[in-house]
Amino acid sequence: MPRTRQQNVTAAQWSANGSALGSPDLTQPGNQIFASNVFSPSVQRSRLPKHVYKALQRTLERGEALDMTLADAVAQAMKDWAMEKGATHFTHWFQPLTGSTAEKHDSFYAPTGEGTAIAEFSGKELIQGEPDASSFPTGGIRATFEARGYTAWDPTSPAFILENPNGALLCIPTAFTSWTGEALDHKIPLLRSMDALSKAAIGALEVLGDDTAKRVFTTVGPEQEYFLIDEQYYFERPDLLITGRTLFGAKPPKGHELDDHYFGSIPERILAYMMDTERELAKLGVPVKTRHNEVAPNQYELAPIFENSNVGADHQQITMQVMQNVARRYGLVCLLHEKPFAGVNGSGKHNNWSMGTNTGINLLEPGDTPHENLQFLFFCAAVIQAVNKYQELLRASIASPGQDHRLGANEAPPAIISIFLGSELEGVFDAIEEGKTKESKPGSFLGLGTPVLPPLPLHGGDRNRTSPFAFTGNKFEFRALGSSMSLAMPNTVLNTIVAEAIDDLASKLAAAMKGNTSLEKAVTKVVKESWTENKRVIFGGDGYSEAWHKEAEERGLANLKTTPDALPWLIDKTTVAVFKKYKVLSKRELESRYEVFAEQYAVKLNIEAETAASIARTQILPAAVRHLNELKASGLAELVEEVEPVVKELHFALTALEDANLKDNQPDSNPSKWAAYMRDRVVPAMDDVREVADRLEKIVADDLWPLPKYSEMLFIK
Ligand code: ADP
Ligand code: MG
Repeated sequence: MPRTRQQNVTAAQWSANGSALGSPDLTQPGNQIFASNVFSPSVQRSRLPKHVYKALQRTLERGEALDMTLADAVAQAMKDWAMEKGATHFTHWFQPLTGSTAEKHDSFYAPTGEGTAIAEFSGKELIQGEPDASSFPTGGIRATFEARGYTAWDPTSPAFILENPNGALLCIPTAFTSWTGEALDHKIPLLRSMDALSKAAIGALEVLGDDTAKRVFTTVGPEQEYFLIDEQYYFERPDLLITGRTLFGAKPPKGHELDDHYFGSIPERILAYMMDTERELAKLGVPVKTRHNEVAPNQYELAPIFENSNVGADHQQITMQVMQNVARRYGLVCLLHEKPFAGVNGSGKHNNWSMGTNTGINLLEPGDTPHENLQFLFFCAAVIQAVNKYQELLRASIASPGQDHRLGANEAPPAIISIFLGSELEGVFDAIEEGKTKESKPGSFLGLGTPVLPPLPLHGGDRNRTSPFAFTGNKFEFRALGSSMSLAMPNTVLNTIVAEAIDDLASKLAAAMKGNTSLEKAVTKVVKESWTENKRVIFGGDGYSEAWHKEAEERGLANLKTTPDALPWLIDKTTVAVFKKYKVLSKRELESRYEVFAEQYAVKLNIEAETAASIARTQILPAAVRHLNELKASGLAELVEEVEPVVKELHFALTALEDANLKDNQPDSNPSKWAAYMRDRVVPAMDDVREVADRLEKIVADDLWPLPKYSEMLFIK
């Protein structure tokens, strides 16, 4: 049997005997494991002195600073709890600008000097850490000679324990800053933006006549798409191993044309994996809720219940890590790349977003009373205004090399940011604009008899999967995130720009209410003006269509197709102004981010190009030459004539790629020029090599072909 067939057979033989490894039945009451590895409020209540617990809770509920004199007591309780759970080490867990998480483990044990050691963990160690951490990207904020970076405890995201077969680790979520106080991570700006939005929304609620809410939280519920493939194939593909995506591979005869995978029944091995992942996440307090097959073969989705943005973003990082770890228990590898397989749908992440008060009101939920509906329209108008005004910045917040393959293709939202409201809600805004707020009959709709307001939709209404930003009944779904992304940056942007729009509309509302104008009239006026100014961003049609690209241009909407097009918006003067006003990121912090992201883009493409060139030269070219030699030996001239030119084409394209990717031929020093060069010269050169190589895959003898094929990787489960 040829080598490749042997692999396929081995891959297919994996069996979990029908059950997840060691998975308890969560429907049994005795098996409740939710948050068992979290230093949760209930653990805190049982272990902390009463006054310490109360102070901590106030911090969590109101976002107030914690009185640090209480830190020793918290540290003591946290350590005892963690050690009972088998933890030997603790870490300040943080999120540098690499987009992943970082941990530096410290042992609880300190030597006593008498040949013994005692377990220690002080309040100081809980509150602040000073990892060397000099190798994280800072975009010029920190020269390495003054490389001190500090981690600072974030009490609003609960500490948790990561188990592994060799012990356990107490993880303390922290922020990461330079010694001059600048943010070096993704958490700090997110927390600052949540604060900005809360202040703005509380101010607006007061104008709207609600002074009961003390804090408004932004909420996030991410739907995560991913692929699972047998690990045997993964380790046979240097491109997957090094870059996370396949740089070669002809389209299989079957893709998702039959739609036989989407929401299909979940294969046993995959279900076993999902259950184990859910179990691990449950222990960490991540409220995983739904699972299903996605559109592409071997593609799946997982979604938790929404949480406040900070905890949700932390949980999302944990989720991606756990998903990848657990896969290996089942002989699988979990791919989180945005486009692991060319020609097959890629993976995204849908960022469901809303705002909720500490009194439990979702500000984007159409309500049961005329007043609630006025409030809803007000906040909804603010989101529309923000998204229209800062469409380019939103686009920039989700830019990455992986996303360049996905956005704008016929599978993911276009690179044009627009909002889908659904025809019902769009009709409501139109009616307000035209002054046609026809009287709804008493009791006819939501039981309302308001003379001013047209009926509001009860349910989410229709759906539009081609929209990057869609209203879905009681939240907006920002659907353009990449599958491997941290939630922090897009949510930071969203919170900040919406805070500004809320402030703007609230001050207009206050002005409109001067004199004796009713709230209803004043809100209608403010909403109407904002709608007229910003409705160009509303689009309910097919976002994939050519016609929309044309129309969007006529409307003056941006179409930033690639990462180098989008990233400069991070330092545009409008961005600098709004981030400065809301104290979310300073100009310097924005510039550093811009530099880091542009450089990451270039470096990633550089790695891809080198990997592609190396596979092409050392694996694909030799296979093609061997095949050609066999044909030559056979004496069949027609066959030689058919194949020889393709082999030469490959060599030609390969040489061009190697040349384009030579360090000496690339602009250095300026990250944005470097990024543009990689996009304009290196990416097309890679595509050229791939195009020939994929043709060869269909010609060269199967037993000579060095890489597992799409038809194997995507279908053998
Ligand atoms: P669909 O596939 O129809 O979009 P899912 O159930 O897969 O729906 O995902 C919806 C996501 O939206 C879930 O993560 C859910 O928790 C989240 N969500 C629901 N309400 C809110 C809200 N108020 N704020 C943020 N996210 C929310
Ligand atoms: Mg969705």
